[in-house]
Amino acid sequence: MGTTGTVRIGVLDLQGAVSEHLEAVEAAGGAAVPVKRPEQLAGLDGLIIPGGESTTIGRLMEEYGFTEAVPEAAGEGLAVYGTCAGLIVMAREIEDGVPGQPCLGLMDIGVVRNGFGRQVDSFEADLVLKGLPGGPFRGVFIRAPYVKRLGAGVEALADFDGKVVMVRQGRCLATAFHPELTGDPRVHQYFLEMAARAGEGR
Ligand code: GLN
Repeated sequence: MGTTGTVRIGVLDLQGAVSEHLEAVEAAGGAAVPVKRPEQLAGLDGLIIPGGESTTIGRLMEEYGFTEAVPEAAGEGLAVYGTCAGLIVMAREIEDGVPGQPCLGLMDIGVVRNGFGRQVDSFEADLVLKGLPGGPFRGVFIRAPYVKRLGAGVEALADFDGKVVMVRQGRCLATAFHPELTGDPRVHQYFLEMAARAGEGR
């Protein structure tokens, strides 16, 4: 954490829902910075990989050197949270990806891209999030993936329709839905707490 005690969270600013996450981090009491270059990861407590298009985000991450830099920083204690396309990018295996689609393997999970069916473009559902305070959380799903394989050490925090849609492994968190679109700060607050603890360990 910074000297002021504020948790510093970067939002990967290559493509996708960046400004919504910056606002959600601030609303949850953190300091948010858009991240366009790997050098900017230094000094952060956490990084959010936003939703968007996982093939595009993955390709741009490769081009700018993030595919090496993010796992390296995560190894040194950076907390990482991926939403939707971000969840896909964090996985070890992608089903229904495009050939050669980059993924970081930050979490020991296998995901199904567009796992709720291409025809079901988007929907909302009330979710029960394990370990988070308060009542149901409104999940906004947009061409969402789900988590099909969970390795040892991966905890399922929410499911919908028999499919796992929120997972945590150590300092990594991922949701198939978009909390940055709901105005409910609880998931971002949860991530900020993870990131604050990750910072303490460094
Ligand atoms: N289906 C998109 C992908 O494969 C993810 C959609 C999203 O992030 N809202 O990247």
